[in-house]
Amino acid sequence: MSDPKTGDKPDEEKPKAPAVYKCCDNPQITYYGVTNLNINERTIGSVDVWRCAVCKKLFCEEKQLGIEELTDIVGMPRIDSDAKWAVCISKLQKGKDRWKLVKLKENGTIKFETVDEEIITLKIEDFKIVDDQHWSFLIEDNVNKAIEI
Ligand SMILES: [Zn+2]
Repeated sequence: MSDPKTGDKPDEEKPKAPAVYKCCDNPQITYYGVTNLNINERTIGSVDVWRCAVCKKLFCEEKQLGIEELTDIVGMPRIDSDAKWAVCISKLQKGKDRWKLVKLKENGTIKFETVDEEIITLKIEDFKIVDDQHWSFLIEDNVNKAIEI
């Protein structure tokens, strides 16, 4: 008995494991700092920041308060070389829904998913979100700082 679903397949049809993302030829990634997000001087979340000592690229991870998890260095989130890590803040939301870690390019637009699972398009100028209801700041300018949102 042979099952047609598990039968031999040509190599190119087999799923390939994704290549481990490397920022450069010899990544030396160490913990760099943290950016805290405050509301009325209370920290409601943070962004952990790692940096590659060789190419200086930053890697960020969003932490909502009370959710502790260790990041596997191998799983550093990928970011395009022309993008920067930023926090997008929605003036329409409260508490933990007020902010989100995003990757911004210098100019253009970003698709942003609201808490209502609506996809909206926000305009970016000079690595900043330009919108009446949203604003942003870059992580690279705010490592080891607390930002009131
Ligand atoms: Zn690197």
